[in-house]
Amino acid sequence: MPGNPFYRSSFWFVLRREALKRDGYHCTVEGCQTPTHALHVDHIQTRPRGATGPTSADVLPNLRTLCGNHDRMVKEGASGRRGNGGQLIVRGCDASGRPLDPNHPWNKRGA
Ligand SMILES: [Zn+2]
Repeated sequence: MPGNPFYRSSFWFVLRREALKRDGYHCTVEGCQTPTHALHVDHIQTRPRGATGPTSADVLPNLRTLCGNHDRMVKEGASGRRGNGGQLIVRGCDASGRPLDPNHPWNKRGA
């Protein structure tokens, strides 16, 4: 991502802000409790590598807001393949020690 002037363009700036607004400035992975200060806007279908101008992938329905953890989880590596097979899963605990997995028994009891 760094190095591509597209990500410094006002086009991307506006589109990214729209995506964040649509998603309520929160990670879109269900059950994710990560605080909102480190958000990434991810392309669901990867945009053409190296394209410096707007492409058909640069539209609001193809964008989703992710926290830093989830962005890293599916980020394309040097091979162009996504991490974790592109699967977004919730792991670990929040700051209070509560498991983030919505299927964890602690989260089934209805707090
Ligand atoms: Zn997340």
